[in-house]
Amino acid sequence: ANKCEPISGYDEKRSQAFLEKHEISMLLDEALTQNDLSVHYQPKVTASGKCIGLEALARWDSKILGTVSPGVFIPIAEEHRMVSRLTDLVIQKVCSQLADWSLQGLPTVPVSINISLLDFSQTDFIAKLVKYLADFNVKPHQIELELTETSLEANHAHSLTLIKTLQSWGFTVSVDDFGVGYSNIARLADYPINKLKLDRSLISQVTSSTRQKSLVKAVHVMCKELDIACVAEGVETQKQVDVMAHMGCTEFQGFYFAKPMPAKEFVAHVTKHGLVFAHKATL
Ligand code: C2E
Ligand code: MG
Ligand code: MG
Ligand code: MG
Repeated sequence: ANKCEPISGYDEKRSQAFLEKHEISMLLDEALTQNDLSVHYQPKVTASGKCIGLEALARWDSKILGTVSPGVFIPIAEEHRMVSRLTDLVIQKVCSQLADWSLQGLPTVPVSINISLLDFSQTDFIAKLVKYLADFNVKPHQIELELTETSLEANHAHSLTLIKTLQSWGFTVSVDDFGVGYSNIARLADYPINKLKLDRSLISQVTSSTRQKSLVKAVHVMCKELDIACVAEGVETQKQVDVMAHMGCTEFQGFYFAKPMPAKEFVAHVTKHGLVFAHKATL
């Protein structure tokens, strides 16, 4: 590629990063057009490991770049205004998967989909969502929408209306990554959300720091008062499960139980073990 003569090492690095991002965005654009992304599913379980839901996570294996992680391509998709195309693709794949599983007579659990701030600002977001569901005869109670707090910050009145409309349709609305970034506790009082997903960074410390544990305990009390369910994200040890369950947490997600996996692998597991994803040592 042609590059301008670098003025300093810093600028060269910066232009390199710019070129990379630009290349990734072009390839992502192409991948989206060709429906060349896939979805992995991570089980959400009870304390004893019974699967009560799945989270859909986008995956991109580029022929040119290799596997690109969502931590890289999601922000680029957002920056380049492609994230709504990605959301559409994920919603369609999830709906088609749910329809498939129900045809096969497999037990279906609700699937959650990550929604970006830019999706929320689209005026036809709910109409599109409802249409995709209808196409595959999927019901709103089978879908959970995970919003990040930043998407709630942007336009308060608009977000509130959207959340209420989604809930009136029967969708479950949860807040993702709670406890990191621009968490605004006041918003929880304003928004009638159904679930709070406590970020992995909070969970990882409940077993080592008593202050952290007190904090997470207080979050549970607050959620109980507000009638919001708590989910522990990024659970990696039995001790974390025990501590969180003791506080009243009823939903867990993390590598300790299961990693995100292709639909096929999930079906293989369910066929062999049913919906139980207890830690390997206990199976
Ligand atoms: P997220 O929505 O908070 O999803 C959970 C992330 O934590 C996933 O990373 C998952 O693999 C990882 N994780 C789960 N359990 C554990 C654990 O025990 N330990 C560790 N270290 N990690 C764990 P992933 O798949 O790389 O996705 C990263 C983020 O990218 C997601 O965080 C989400 O914000 C975003 N993302 C992924 N797919 C989509 C999508 O389809 N649409 C949008 N808008 N964002 C997506
Ligand atoms: Mg999520
Ligand atoms: Mg999360
Ligand atoms: Mg996250």
